[in-house]
Amino acid sequence: MSTTSGAGALNYRNGTQRSSLRTQSSTSTSSGGQKSSVKSKSVLRKSSPAALGGGGSKSGSGGDAGVPGRVRVAVRLRPRNGEELIADADFADCVELQPELKRLKLRKNNWDTDTFEFDEVLTEYASQKRVYEVVAKPVVEGVLDGYNGTIMAYGQTGTGKTYTLGQLGEEDVADRGIMVRAMEDILAEVSLETDSISVSYLQLYMETVQDLLDPSNDNIAIVEDPKNGDVSLPGATLVEIRDQQSFLELLQLGEAHRFAANTKLNTESSRSHAILMVNVRRSLKTRDGLSSESNGNSHMTKSLKPPVVRKGKLVVVDLAGSERINKSGSEGHTLEEAKSINLSLSALGKCINALAENSSHVPFRDSKLTRLLRDSFGGTARTSLVITIGPSPRHRGETTSTIMFGQRAMKVENMVKLKEEFDYKSLSRRLEVQLDNLIEENERQQKAFVDEIERITVEAHNQISEAEKRYANALEDEKQRYQNDYMESIKKLEENWSKNQKKLAAERLALGEKNGLDITSNGNRSIAPALEEVSELKKLLQKEAQSKMAAEEEVNRLKHQLTEFKKVEASGNSEIMRLHKMLENETQQKEKLEGEIATLHSQLLQLSLTADETRRNLEQHGSEKTSSARDSLMSQLRLPQIQDPGNAEKPPVARLFEQVGLQKILSLLEAEDADVRIHAVKVVANLAAEEANQQQIVEAGGLTSLLMLLKNTEDETIHRVAAGAIANLAMNETNQELIMDQGGIGLLSSTAANAEDPQTLRMVAGAIANLCGNDKLQTKLRSEGGIAALLGMVRCGHPDVLAQVARGIANFAKCESRASTQGTKRGKSLLIEDGALSWIVQNAKTETAAIRRHIELALCHLAQHEGNAKEMVKEGAIWELVRISRDCSREDIRSLAHRTLTSSPTFLTELRRLRVDIR
Ligand code: ADP
Ligand code: MG
Repeated sequence: MSTTSGAGALNYRNGTQRSSLRTQSSTSTSSGGQKSSVKSKSVLRKSSPAALGGGGSKSGSGGDAGVPGRVRVAVRLRPRNGEELIADADFADCVELQPELKRLKLRKNNWDTDTFEFDEVLTEYASQKRVYEVVAKPVVEGVLDGYNGTIMAYGQTGTGKTYTLGQLGEEDVADRGIMVRAMEDILAEVSLETDSISVSYLQLYMETVQDLLDPSNDNIAIVEDPKNGDVSLPGATLVEIRDQQSFLELLQLGEAHRFAANTKLNTESSRSHAILMVNVRRSLKTRDGLSSESNGNSHMTKSLKPPVVRKGKLVVVDLAGSERINKSGSEGHTLEEAKSINLSLSALGKCINALAENSSHVPFRDSKLTRLLRDSFGGTARTSLVITIGPSPRHRGETTSTIMFGQRAMKVENMVKLKEEFDYKSLSRRLEVQLDNLIEENERQQKAFVDEIERITVEAHNQISEAEKRYANALEDEKQRYQNDYMESIKKLEENWSKNQKKLAAERLALGEKNGLDITSNGNRSIAPALEEVSELKKLLQKEAQSKMAAEEEVNRLKHQLTEFKKVEASGNSEIMRLHKMLENETQQKEKLEGEIATLHSQLLQLSLTADETRRNLEQHGSEKTSSARDSLMSQLRLPQIQDPGNAEKPPVARLFEQVGLQKILSLLEAEDADVRIHAVKVVANLAAEEANQQQIVEAGGLTSLLMLLKNTEDETIHRVAAGAIANLAMNETNQELIMDQGGIGLLSSTAANAEDPQTLRMVAGAIANLCGNDKLQTKLRSEGGIAALLGMVRCGHPDVLAQVARGIANFAKCESRASTQGTKRGKSLLIEDGALSWIVQNAKTETAAIRRHIELALCHLAQHEGNAKEMVKEGAIWELVRISRDCSREDIRSLAHRTLTSSPTFLTELRRLRVDIR
């Protein structure tokens, strides 16, 4: 018995191929005279990519097709129960399991068995843990990685579906079923700060969906998203789960409501389907988000990548018992009720049969169950089915049909796809916060700067007035001192003088008394003391002169000091000037910052524009699918970016256009940053989609820039969007000539030669197709390789591309036929010379209406010119014309074909020769 887990679980991953056992041969082994054959012819598939979940940066809802992953099927045998141990004591089990070979032998009678292979064979001894690991764990891991997952149990009532899925294991944790274990794994893996888990729990009975978490909600509508076909139940209660206990309580509550609802409806739970839906939303933390905060400027405009969220949905389905309800209604149901009870289950069987046989129609819409499980079978989810059987030989019939159901389910192939998308909302929130921070920081700096200037100015003023005061004081002091000195000297001189006078008088008096002589006559005698006086006076005079000099020196020194002070004052002024300059610089810096804020704003708009565009594209895809009738010539001409001109509200691009200005947007086409370039070209493309803007774009040099982008970049997205814009501009005759003059055909041809993406090719083909419709450009277009480029693109095979190629050919043929009617064209068609005719003939019967109609028109135009008739007979185009003249759904084309056939002598001769009557 294989009760250990591990290796089995690894092999069990959806999307990986276990090829060791899945041999195609139906080996026959015989033992003991018993005959058995391996019935399972299933499932050796084309090799599929091994690893899933590392899918990196795909943007989920886009066009990626996913990875093949087959529905995995395990069979689980319930041990004999008490009654069976007694009643079947003398009988062998109706099945024999070979878990190591992953085979199940079903006893047909005593000597004959059928052998079946499954992805996993779980015996009556398999533990709940092992069942979880092989059946559910890989699916749960997928859900955590962002893939949808389904786990479903199918089997007769009483064989252990609910035990396998819904057992709570309250008494013995070893008994816990898949729902409980799955939530344990999910809670262990997610981080509740960034991720969220929400749960709904529903019952489907008699085509009515009831909410097991809110019994009053007993008729929930299933809503289908018209864009992508996703189904949802907006009316169902959604409960956020943050811990295991609340989940267990929720399951118990659901079970109680289920019991009550079924009692009310007078049925058993085995007649209804229980559906648990677990939504896991995870934010991807890595990538260069906006972590570096607002410490500056330009680097942050680059990090505009929005955060990524992955949304995986786990659906666990406990189906109603697969046994047939007695048709007579003996269980208390009328026949109508019985049919209704079985409707969903039998619809599921029909869908699985259709998918297993690769049938073109799968009747998903027949029942609510199949609508809800659309993604689980043949969709994008990883799906794991466990079929439960009992051992009793009395139920061999039911057991056999359960096994056959499982075998068919093994053939269903899903395309497992990552559910990842950009979280534009949170990016926008983050950018807004950042913008606020930047503005705040800028204001703060501004204020600090103004304060600083004020402080420095006040300080300088204080210093200057202090210096002036000091200088004035010093000057006053000096002056005072010299005045004092001077006054003192004068006083001394006066004293001396009066002293001398007195002395002189006394001496004269003494002399007169002694000699009685006249003073004047005796003057010679008093000469000596007088001389002394004079020399003393001279000395005094000299001293006076010296102190005068000293005073002058002092004045000079003070003057010098004054000039020094003046200098200090001047340098204070220049400091103020410097500060003024700094103020100016800061103002400029601020303006630059504001510019960047504006750029951020515009990029924000561009982002929302990108989101719009994606949405629009999705919408268009959706509507293309639903209405194939809507392919008028107009919608062929107008490429996908084009907006509805009747739209009253201005689209974000137009707003951006007004705010940022065309020149600025065009200059961004040459930006260094690839992201900016891509955004810019998208904006230009959207503008070019509006006829009103086209002339302005061309005049501003936009057309030249777009053509240069084809030449100078390698980026496929840029090529696609630029080509789309050129295609729109190429709808106008003047622009067509400009495109040709600027070497447009050569650029478009080389873009077409290098492109892989069908959408790029579609845009290029659309652009050339528009040019093909210009009578004046025919020869030039062909000689520069336009027709060859168109024909080269059919290699891609995508119907949208082929439709554009066919349109181009039809346009060209129409111009040619016009020219030949006017007599300006002679000889064979250039299209035929370039080998277009064989492609035209090959595709004339294509299923795709859009392609066929252009080809039919092209054939009619070519046939109008007798110069082409011979070649058309040779290539078999004449038969297509005959067919068109008979079967074409459009009257005008039908009669055009008829007219051309009957007016060409060559055609008439050929038809007569082959006795074809076209009347
Ligand atoms: P179903 O949901 O298919 O009608 P249940 O899960 O209710 O079946 O199982 C019927 C009975 O069998 C229950 O009493 C359950 O406990 C028991 N049972 C089912 N599978 C097992 C198993 N593998 N081991 C032990 N008991 C089981
Ligand atoms: Mg049950």
